[in-house]
Amino acid sequence: MRTEARHSGAHPLPAVCAAVNAKRLLETAVRLIAKPSPTGSAGAAADELAAVLAEDGFAVERPPAGHPTAPAVVARLSSGRPGRTLQFNGHLDTVHLPFVPPKVSGDRLTGSGAADMKGGIAAAVEALRAVRDAGGLAGGGILLTAHDLHETPWGDGSQLDRLVADGIVGNAVLLPEYFNAALPVIGRGGFTWAATIRRPGPPVHEVNRPNEPSVIAVGAELVTRLARLDAELSRQSDPLAGAASAFVGTIQSGSIYNEFPQTCRLEGTRRWLPGTRFADADQQFRALCAALASDTGTAIEVETRLMRDAFRLDTSDPFVGVFQSAYATLVGERLPIGGKPFVDDGNSFWSGAGIPAVTHGPTAGGAHTTAEWANVDDLVRVARLYALVATMYCPDTPGGRA
Ligand SMILES: [Zn+2]
Repeated sequence: MRTEARHSGAHPLPAVCAAVNAKRLLETAVRLIAKPSPTGSAGAAADELAAVLAEDGFAVERPPAGHPTAPAVVARLSSGRPGRTLQFNGHLDTVHLPFVPPKVSGDRLTGSGAADMKGGIAAAVEALRAVRDAGGLAGGGILLTAHDLHETPWGDGSQLDRLVADGIVGNAVLLPEYFNAALPVIGRGGFTWAATIRRPGPPVHEVNRPNEPSVIAVGAELVTRLARLDAELSRQSDPLAGAASAFVGTIQSGSIYNEFPQTCRLEGTRRWLPGTRFADADQQFRALCAALASDTGTAIEVETRLMRDAFRLDTSDPFVGVFQSAYATLVGERLPIGGKPFVDDGNSFWSGAGIPAVTHGPTAGGAHTTAEWANVDDLVRVARLYALVATMYCPDTPGGRA
């Protein structure tokens, strides 16, 4: 492990990193957090981000991308010369919890979305400004995108999927989610599922029960068959991402001890590794339920909801080398390779368009609680890193891609 060159003053910061302004970054974060934006209703926060960028002189576009109540926010910093485009992408929506207003106290930024992920978006915005203030890029450009509909179960990722499908993408993407322990190179895809088992008749006293299947027994059989599937899937395993799986989280049936119930509902998840697609896993799950229904004389209604498809980062892509050099310049060593512990929008860029995506954001915590926080110094580090990656990824490339 290299220990030299840790940035404690021994080496001067690259100019683009020195151009990062912590006060400006925090003002942006506070303005974004101050606009409540539960998933599906992130319009006010999107308008605020658009205003921040416009006040700063950036041209802003607002493509609805299938969600006109909160159009996405798109800004560009172009060198005017050919070259690659680096994208910074974040989601402006927050989980549906009581609103907590923004506050900066010492080294902590708090409030709704401080960790997940308005603090990170503010760092990306500050990186955009720093690159401009330090003289811009030699080639190519930066594309900043922000959107709604990220958090499940209220959102389904469709606004970002639409941006990707409409070609509003860069050649590589940085996502400032609250994760920086490793460089995530693989992640499982997943869906949540619900299966409702029904027999034809109404609920009746158990002494009067008709000759119909017990939905509770069929529910138990579904648990057994899914356990068998899970055991089979566990053979598909990756040391970093974990194993493919089928999981049962809830089972509900009956309302009183002597009533013959009419329905049994189970819920859970199904996860898979790169190489499997959502459609494959979905079809397999539905076939398993259809076979059970046919074997037991019940009807089984299945609903599945995609979280995100699986994720992989090609470590031989030039973007990965650029990211690691920039990281090493600031921190003194390269980031270890790891798995992605959650699904995020990087999965959509890879599965939807084959675009390399790196999730790397501030040290932060309390995501999906009312006690979110982000470390202020680390927000500054992320802004410096993003700015440096941009200048290194977008050099002057005569005859490069337009
Ligand atoms: Zn997030």
